[in-house]
Amino acid sequence: MEPENHTTLTPDTPVRYLKGVGPKIAQRFEKLGILTLADLLCHYPRRYLDFSRPYSIAEAPLDTECVVRAEVLAKPGGRRITGGRQLERVTAGDDVSTLELVWFNNPYVAPKLKLGEAYYFQGIVTGGMLERRMVNPQVRTEAQITAAPLEAVYPQTDGLSSGVIARCIRQLLPHAELLADPLPPAMLEKYRLPGKAEAVRAIHCPASEEEAAGARRRLIYEELLLLQLGIGRMKNRGTAATGAPMRRVDPGPFWDSLPFSPTGAQRRAVEEILSDMAGETSMNRLLQGDVGSGKTLVAAAAIWACIRSGYQAALLAPTEILAAQHAETLNRLLEPFGIRVAFLTGGMKAAARRTTLAAIETDQADLVVGTHAILSSGVNFARLGLAVIDEQHRFGVRQRGALAEKAVNPHLLVMSATPIPRTLGLLIYGDLDISILDELPPGRTPVKTRCLTGKKRRDLYGFLDREIGTGRQVYIVCPAIEDSPTGELNAVQTYYEETAKALLPSRRVGLMHGKLKPKEKAAVMEDFKAGRLDALVSTTVIEVGVDVPNATVMVIENAERYGLSALHQLRGRVGRGAAESWCFLVSDHEGEAVRQRLRFLCSTNDGFAVAQYDLETRGPGDFFGSRQHGLPALQIANLMNDTRTLHAAQREAQNLLAADPLLTQPEHALLAQQVEQMFRRAGAMN
Ligand code: ADP
Ligand code: MG
Repeated sequence: MEPENHTTLTPDTPVRYLKGVGPKIAQRFEKLGILTLADLLCHYPRRYLDFSRPYSIAEAPLDTECVVRAEVLAKPGGRRITGGRQLERVTAGDDVSTLELVWFNNPYVAPKLKLGEAYYFQGIVTGGMLERRMVNPQVRTEAQITAAPLEAVYPQTDGLSSGVIARCIRQLLPHAELLADPLPPAMLEKYRLPGKAEAVRAIHCPASEEEAAGARRRLIYEELLLLQLGIGRMKNRGTAATGAPMRRVDPGPFWDSLPFSPTGAQRRAVEEILSDMAGETSMNRLLQGDVGSGKTLVAAAAIWACIRSGYQAALLAPTEILAAQHAETLNRLLEPFGIRVAFLTGGMKAAARRTTLAAIETDQADLVVGTHAILSSGVNFARLGLAVIDEQHRFGVRQRGALAEKAVNPHLLVMSATPIPRTLGLLIYGDLDISILDELPPGRTPVKTRCLTGKKRRDLYGFLDREIGTGRQVYIVCPAIEDSPTGELNAVQTYYEETAKALLPSRRVGLMHGKLKPKEKAAVMEDFKAGRLDALVSTTVIEVGVDVPNATVMVIENAERYGLSALHQLRGRVGRGAAESWCFLVSDHEGEAVRQRLRFLCSTNDGFAVAQYDLETRGPGDFFGSRQHGLPALQIANLMNDTRTLHAAQREAQNLLAADPLLTQPEHALLAQQVEQMFRRAGAMN
């Protein structure tokens, strides 16, 4: 295979221009996030099959993946066996022993093998001393092994095997120079790193383990340097003089206006925030607190103090539902002080939007609560002093920057329920100070969590019915099925009609999902809040932030589909009042790892323990590769394991930015461009 047209290849050429990549395969590549030739070249292998040191048959370890070198001795030919599976058999041997090779339903490999010729067979050897067998082995010729002794194994997806990916990448390797090298030559020399094209070629097709390791080291370094440069640039922003100087405000009057007392943790966090805001540089603070710890109230106190000092404030939420809820809560808390709250989302009618924009611009609105619509260019604040971002992990780092750019260095408060180990937090949120809410409001009873299978669904609904009978409300979460041609809407709609309504015939059941119009979403949520609905069947659009204290049961169908942190967030929707609350994880998945994960959640309500467990079992790759922190997904580096490289990259980034804060020198142009690209992607994903 060769790319169809050499002259027109660029890094941005779509993968479908490769030979052998039709629309179907292109679509599968897209699922892996691979759109262009550059993406494909940067799709690095997970590990290698090492064909360079094959075993003899007698020495091959049993029941483990290995490579055996042997000669083809006999080919008895194919025949049908019971169960309708086709079987191909070949006998191979070396000086000492023989090995029976068997292929099921794969008539292509065996006929190609030549009698008397030696091959490399990769697979699992089973049997005893005399009879050894390998089922469905991979075969390589002597020539193939000489060319590529280490064979790359790629992360795969449904319908796109590592082998197909390897073939596509191999035809591209002669064009590895397409990828410009962002690292300046002096840096390569200093750290003795290979150039970009060389490293890419070597990681896909290394001549030795050392070469693979060297290539990996270079690519990890590059990735971490880009990451640290991106974070470092935001940090520079933070040390600037604030555009919203204010005096230290006494929060007393705000606390006194509440029907309850703030927790000690809330008081402490607010004190930290208020002293930040009275400082000379602008605040950059992260408020971290488990679900239900009362972050909204802390934000409200900060907003109150900001507006008291004569500035406007803005609060950004990741979903329309949450934004609407915050607007309502904050209006209730702040209206007694004569504070005017405006609401802004993307779904608003043009006329309403115009009125709101005018109010923001002419200082008629003191606080603007909304979704990312707040970030759009038409929104101009008269004098923004404080920007708050709720559920920060749902946003890209860029959005944080975009909100801060709405004024001259406003104070910034970001809030998140996702706890991360402290040392990593400092590297990731390196530009932020951290306040922690380590105390729940009084009178909460811990949510009781139970696992069950679909067979128990009827009993479960009996329980829901009784709970509703005592005046409580329940959530039932169904997964969004992206893959099905019928789409998310059908999955949740069918469940709503055929399961929830059928099993709760005398109850008022509502339906909520992402495809509803903003107005419809608001109406459903309003009905649920006001108690006009007993049960709410929903996709995970209610995952974050939603606060209806009368709801006491959370049912999560297909619980195996979610990470523990997401499940913990969903569970956090209940247990918000004093009443006993329940979370049911429904799953028919039989995998031991999955069952163990779900059982773990049953054993604790502590968000930090949940995150730690997630980190240990799913591996930091998934944990940090996901959008948890709104940081770019990392291709190759691992923040947990590559800490030495991370520190080296951090030092280099600091030096670079000290000498060239905006990366405007010509030798840094490519670095600047790639940092931008990396963070733009992260932002665009949300
Ligand atoms: P989260 O930290 O998950 O965003 P919320 O801000 O939604 O939590 O608060 C959860 C619930 O706790 C809300 O119903 C809120 O009114 C209530 N709450 C917050 N602080 C207190 C407090 N000090 N005393 C009693 N209830 C509180
Ligand atoms: Mg919240």
